[in-house]
Amino acid sequence: MKKIISILSLLFVLFTLSAQKPEDTEDWSRRPVIVTPGKNSMPPSDAIILYRGKEDIINWTDEQGNPSKWLSDDSLTVVPGTGSIYTKMLFGDVQLHVEWRTPSVVSDTGQGRGNSGVFMMGLYEIQVLDSYKNETYYNGQAGSIYKQYIPLVNACTPPGTWQSYDIFFNAPVFNEDQTLKIPAYITVVQNGILVQNHVEIKGPMTFEGMPAYKYHKSKLPLMLQEHKNPVSYRNIWIREL
Ligand code: MG
Repeated sequence: MKKIISILSLLFVLFTLSAQKPEDTEDWSRRPVIVTPGKNSMPPSDAIILYRGKEDIINWTDEQGNPSKWLSDDSLTVVPGTGSIYTKMLFGDVQLHVEWRTPSVVSDTGQGRGNSGVFMMGLYEIQVLDSYKNETYYNGQAGSIYKQYIPLVNACTPPGTWQSYDIFFNAPVFNEDQTLKIPAYITVVQNGILVQNHVEIKGPMTFEGMPAYKYHKSKLPLMLQEHKNPVSYRNIWIREL
């Protein structure tokens, strides 16, 4: 009798195993859209071009919504005193590619050297700074989430060279009563090197005090910061997620 039971249970196990087919765990519910990659970080086929050259300055305004006064030729360069610039388009969750270059002529030190910034939604800053042999507080160097997260490594190349950020951004989500539901998350790859790995954002950039979320719309402009230094930008493209 014992033998029969064990044979039966063995048969049962075999039956169950054979009932699980490899196809059972195949997911055919969503066919990924075909996107053609861009060569050498040029925009893939489904990207929105924010800056490729001279005339693309029309995609940007100053804080008041007037045409940007930054210098625009092959690249877009900060003109000190003209303020930060904003995209006309509004964005929430995105993948962003941006290339930047700090001035080749080095003047000043610390935060005064090639300072600018990429502000997701105009609020959450990924610092742009000449951090090549230039010490400053580590959560304020290039690749940092300004005053929040030190970059994993210093991936900077010398001043005057082009560098890239590939940024993966999840916008914060707010409840109906305007309290925070889900914080923002950011991943940053600088020059092909991971410098921020899905960090939880504590709130909008603040120079003084601790960051704290305040309700805002689900889509806002992307901002590039004017911080007195003539930093340049080029090849800026974005993909909405
Ligand atoms: Mg900055």
